Amino acid sequence: MTTNKKECFVVGTRPDIIKMAPLIKKMNPYVIHSGQHRELADEAFKIFDIKPDTDLDLMEANQTIISFMVKGASAISRVVEEIKPKRIWVLGDTMTALITSWVAFALEIPLVHVEAGLRTHDKRNPYPEEIFRVMIDQIADIMFTPTKTNTKNLNKERVTGDIHQVGNLIVDALEMIKPTLSEKRPIEEPYVLMTMHRRESFQKDMGNVFGAVKELSKKMKVIYPIHPNPNVRKVAKEIGITTIDPLNYTDFLWYLKHCEFVMTDSGGIQEEVPSFDKPILILRKVTERQEILKSKLAFLSSLESKDVYEKVRILSKMKDVKYNSNPFGDGKTADRIIKIIEEKYE
Ligand code: UDP
Repeated sequence: MTTNKKECFVVGTRPDIIKMAPLIKKMNPYVIHSGQHRELADEAFKIFDIKPDTDLDLMEANQTIISFMVKGASAISRVVEEIKPKRIWVLGDTMTALITSWVAFALEIPLVHVEAGLRTHDKRNPYPEEIFRVMIDQIADIMFTPTKTNTKNLNKERVTGDIHQVGNLIVDALEMIKPTLSEKRPIEEPYVLMTMHRRESFQKDMGNVFGAVKELSKKMKVIYPIHPNPNVRKVAKEIGITTIDPLNYTDFLWYLKHCEFVMTDSGGIQEEVPSFDKPILILRKVTERQEILKSKLAFLSSLESKDVYEKVRILSKMKDVKYNSNPFGDGKTADRIIKIIEEKYE
């Protein structure tokens, strides 16, 4: 495929831009940036040298889910009505993906959902993403799933669109960057790499984890590139833990390559650690990426301080671990998707 402006991709957050990047580079579609994230999204576009065709700049300080949905749906539909694409593409479970799927349905344009079928089966965990992805898959005409478990989830829900199992684009994305990462360590001393930003943890759980991190920091360096979300920053400040600004994707993978282990509530990072052979403490009570738990190098947490601290103790003893392979992808997902579209849907 060369230039293909009849395919319209709608993205807007750091993870969906990173994951769609390998496909965007190969397909050259029309790209709408919702602006759901501002600086984080701009950094991600820059790393992959992608310029969106339209930037809706929808992000507002302290915006609620509802206000973003209302404003976003009408802004996205205006652009879509003008460009009249053959298909609309979204990834994962973001607000941008959900409202775009409504627009596609309302305008009767086929919807492609990449990274379909991920489920915890707990509607408040992750919140609001679990319900968002269920709704998107009910609307989607073509679904690309990363794993067998994801495909099974969709079959159980009796979705009506076509399902193709292709792997997760995150492995394609990280493999574009991995060969460029320096062998030189970002810092000399051993460190733990951490991120935490999920909405369902804002209240008690985040405080518990940050309390454990404060204790851990007395023994070991913790590098925590903190999300710009003011709710997260407020808790970090109240507990008094040390943080750094978000890293661009290349730098983040560089820190990942050299860390001892990872603590995170991020979905994308759970998918990345196997490619770097790092043990991981998932700062969540459930995960839709259950494939990683089979490795025995990944643990969930009850998010009580004591539990976090105990799991950290186990992880800090795990040295030079190796995953058999990355269970989420092999770096060829973009090619697989393009082949399926060309052969079955052109
Ligand atoms: N990431 C990054 N810089 C950071 C922290 C994370 O580039 O400072 C990347 C990370 O490698 C992963 C993605 O951002 O690919 C994950 O995004 P996030 O945690 O915001 O969302 P989630 O994966 O939970 O949807």
